[in-house]
Amino acid sequence: MTEHTLTVAGVAVDTRHWIGGERVASTETFTDVSPIDGSLLGEISRGTAMEAAAAVAAAKAAFPAWAATHRAERARILHAVADGVEKRLEELAIVETCDNGALLRSHRRGVMPRVAHNFRFFADWLLKLEHEDFETRGHTNHVSWDPAGPCVLITPWNAPLMLATWKVAPALAAGNTVILKPAEWTPLTASLLADIAAEAGLPAGVLNVVQGYGSEIGDALTSHPDVRRISFTGSVPTAKRIAASAAANLTPLSLELGGKSPLLVFADADLDLAVDLAVEQYDNAGQVCLAATRFLVQESVAEEFTRRFVAKAGQLTQGDPRDEATDIGPNIHPRQLEKIDGFVQRAIAAGARAVIGGHRGDGQYYAPTLLTDVAQDSEIVQEEVFGPVLTLQTFATEDEAVRLANDTRFGLAATLATGDPERAERVTAQLVAGTVWTNCFFVRDLQAPFGGSRHSGVGREGGTWSFDFYCDVKNTVTAPNGWRNHG
Ligand code: NAD
Repeated sequence: MTEHTLTVAGVAVDTRHWIGGERVASTETFTDVSPIDGSLLGEISRGTAMEAAAAVAAAKAAFPAWAATHRAERARILHAVADGVEKRLEELAIVETCDNGALLRSHRRGVMPRVAHNFRFFADWLLKLEHEDFETRGHTNHVSWDPAGPCVLITPWNAPLMLATWKVAPALAAGNTVILKPAEWTPLTASLLADIAAEAGLPAGVLNVVQGYGSEIGDALTSHPDVRRISFTGSVPTAKRIAASAAANLTPLSLELGGKSPLLVFADADLDLAVDLAVEQYDNAGQVCLAATRFLVQESVAEEFTRRFVAKAGQLTQGDPRDEATDIGPNIHPRQLEKIDGFVQRAIAAGARAVIGGHRGDGQYYAPTLLTDVAQDSEIVQEEVFGPVLTLQTFATEDEAVRLANDTRFGLAATLATGDPERAERVTAQLVAGTVWTNCFFVRDLQAPFGGSRHSGVGREGGTWSFDFYCDVKNTVTAPNGWRNHG
């Protein structure tokens, strides 16, 4: 234990950056607080342009050797990282819960196993990554994926380690080095990941973690000329700043942003299933980019759907996320709570009716809310709230449903509840969304393309799409009959 260690539920976490295989402290710190009860978790190193430059330099120095490391060896080390995650799963789960307030039971059973899976999946995918050679007038075309260089990965607070490793794992598998910048509200599990990666034998400088406010350290990372890729998950305004900053060097960007996704419930749907899907949208206290926050329900079943939804939502337990019985935990930060309540009160002032909720709970909790009587062009229908706040509108026809579903500036996901496969196909073809779920929700395979349309993002990651982004894809054309003698 040093003065740079904090302890969360018995787990020691280093509060410094991890740069070039060493812990590096900043002179300034920022305060990390638990959303569960507002308790102080600790003071974290507050990075500046200086630490950003040091991390990029370390990543640049480590790149040639890591890029030249045989694929099988890179894959072996990534599996060793996954082993380390599994070994420390309980610790990661409780630290993440204390830091971001999401359910401990989800971290234990879903999220942290998924973190390990991120490493295993991309390690295995690397080994089978290939494109069949093809011929052009007797010449052979061979496609290969070359490592690109240092990658800056910037992540949000709503699913910190899962979203970080969904980028870290393919970037490393591809043979790149990484500078990870986690969100300032949830810095802790990224620090634990640095320890785990080092123990797994990842060479110094291959993974670097820098802490700090995006506004202070972000620009130095995203405008750095030695950075070859930037992958960002977060909000639209930040994405625009990052895109502007990256433009100076034309650094390729992958942007995974917000959403205002619809749940379309047709009269022919299994209503119990539709209600199950609808109630799921309160998961993680509504702090899920993919959440279907706009219910669009066919008029003839709207009353019955609402009745069943209210009954089901009434069974949800809100409280301490460490408690196994809790379904909805706190929201991340007093500022976020303020923002959520602002959206709801402005909607109510504009004529919306709160069918349930519509107000704060105790502490940092917001009452699960469903608003009706909302206009399509209103703020509450158009803007992402990122809290447990859902709206319900009705539609008469399929055409109207599609029109309402597509009528925001986002296009991340859409969920359909319908009993008619032909309708599902017709509607899906017209929806603007990176992912469409029919009669299900949140099924995410790592080999699937993932990303958003319009303001929900730029680019796709997942499976080969991740390697396409994190690599310089090369086509090598060889003359007919192998090597010609030009001598
Ligand atoms: P945010 O944009 O405020 O912050 C995200 C990250 O960007 C943080 O690490 C922050 O420190 C950093 N940052 C801030 N300013 C920066 C700058 N100028 N340069 C570089 N980095 C900077 O977002 P948030 O509030 O942490 O996250 C919530 C948002 O993320 C929501 O809009 C949500 O929909 C979105 N999100 C999207 C996905 C997806 O996969 N599409 C997943 C999760 C969350």
